[in-house]
Amino acid sequence: MAMEEILTHAATDGPLHAALTQLDDAAKLIGLDDAIHHKLRKPKRVMMVSIPTLMDDGTTEVFTGYRAQHSMERGPCKGGIRYHPDVNLEEVIALAMWMTWKCAVVNIPYGGAKGGVICSPKDMSEGELERMTRRFTTELVEVIGPEKDIPAPDVYTNAQTMAWIMDTYSMQKGYSVPAVVTGKPIALGGSLGREAATGRGCVFTIREAMECLGIAPDGARAVVQGFGNVGSWAARLLEPLGPKIIAASDSRGGCYNPDGISVMELLAHKDETGTVVGFPGTDTVTNEELLELECEVLIPAALEESIHEGNAANIKARMIAEGANGPTTPEAQEILNDKGIFVIPDILANSGGVTVSYFEWVQGLQAYFWTEDEVNDRMEKIMVRAFNEVYAEHEKRGVDMRAAAMAVAVGRVAEAQAMRGIYP
Ligand code: NAD
Repeated sequence: MAMEEILTHAATDGPLHAALTQLDDAAKLIGLDDAIHHKLRKPKRVMMVSIPTLMDDGTTEVFTGYRAQHSMERGPCKGGIRYHPDVNLEEVIALAMWMTWKCAVVNIPYGGAKGGVICSPKDMSEGELERMTRRFTTELVEVIGPEKDIPAPDVYTNAQTMAWIMDTYSMQKGYSVPAVVTGKPIALGGSLGREAATGRGCVFTIREAMECLGIAPDGARAVVQGFGNVGSWAARLLEPLGPKIIAASDSRGGCYNPDGISVMELLAHKDETGTVVGFPGTDTVTNEELLELECEVLIPAALEESIHEGNAANIKARMIAEGANGPTTPEAQEILNDKGIFVIPDILANSGGVTVSYFEWVQGLQAYFWTEDEVNDRMEKIMVRAFNEVYAEHEKRGVDMRAAAMAVAVGRVAEAQAMRGIYP
């Protein structure tokens, strides 16, 4: 399908429609130059590759993989690779575009990319996944690299996947290239602090927002939807700042105690039973009920579109910090705005992860590794600065934080593009 067709099709719905609408709104808000606007509506480059893979039963399956690179105006591209049956080009382009804004909002020197392979990783053996990953990497070898495009884990890919990519790329080059991916195992040059980074960054933005909104941390009530990596780290790091975590959930449901839940004990319970449900001293709530609890801070850290037109009017949080990507639909955002609920948007609230990925790349390039405290301190500075820049834009323009974050991000990319000019 031609790029025009993809973009035209996206005019009706889907993630690319949402991404393009957000860009168009930001362009209008900041008075973006038309030529730059048109350029940013399209990815710089899209690779579509076939990935013949020897399966364990001796047959060969030919998977389809994509890598979309949206923008390289501010530096190499950065973005995850996902393995999922629903991967499609439109979504990959939209996710690449969001990565451009996420990197720009925290002002790290990257553009956005995203990749994916259409496959069912849960039905594949470790050997099949390894062979598919190595062939996919080989097909991408000319377009990825530390100075071009640096992949990372995403849905159903992990540190092991990154180790295979790093090894395959290194074998092709003839020397070790740790900075070709981030999210690597520590033994191969992964960064300390990466595992907690997204939750930690989210907490920095919540702390700053509480100060701006005059919410006292002590005794503030926080609710976490999705007690996985992002949600549990956010809960764990928010609790010592004063707020009590009154509810948390996972895919099986949630637990609630208005007097507060000990996060460390809840983690132990989840380790033991596989779920937060049934934690002693709590009531069981559904995920729908959990989102509608009265609280100061709501952290959606599970899925896209969990706050939508159907439930936004019932949300009673004072602020929402989007740990997940895309948890609030555009219709819900309008309802939340009308209710005066302050939303720290995903491209800001969960950008601690890509920030520490950036640190991993820097450490890999320099072959000089930082302590965990150094990582956390540097990330805090970046997150606090980014939050305050977006908050200032929100005040100056009188728009919600999402529009403000987009204005900051698109403005930065546009400035770089204008200075570089349109080649040739
Ligand atoms: P994860 O798999 O570790 O955790 C997800 C959690 O959500 C799990 O506890 C799961 O049980 C729960 N969940 C699934 N379906 C649910 C439902 N219907 N209701 C409530 N809970 C449900 O994933 P993660 O890495 O924590 O990622 C969570 C979100 O954060 C995703 O949107 C991801 O894209 C985003 N994100 C993650 C990172 C990162 O560094 N991990 C960075 C940026 C954004």
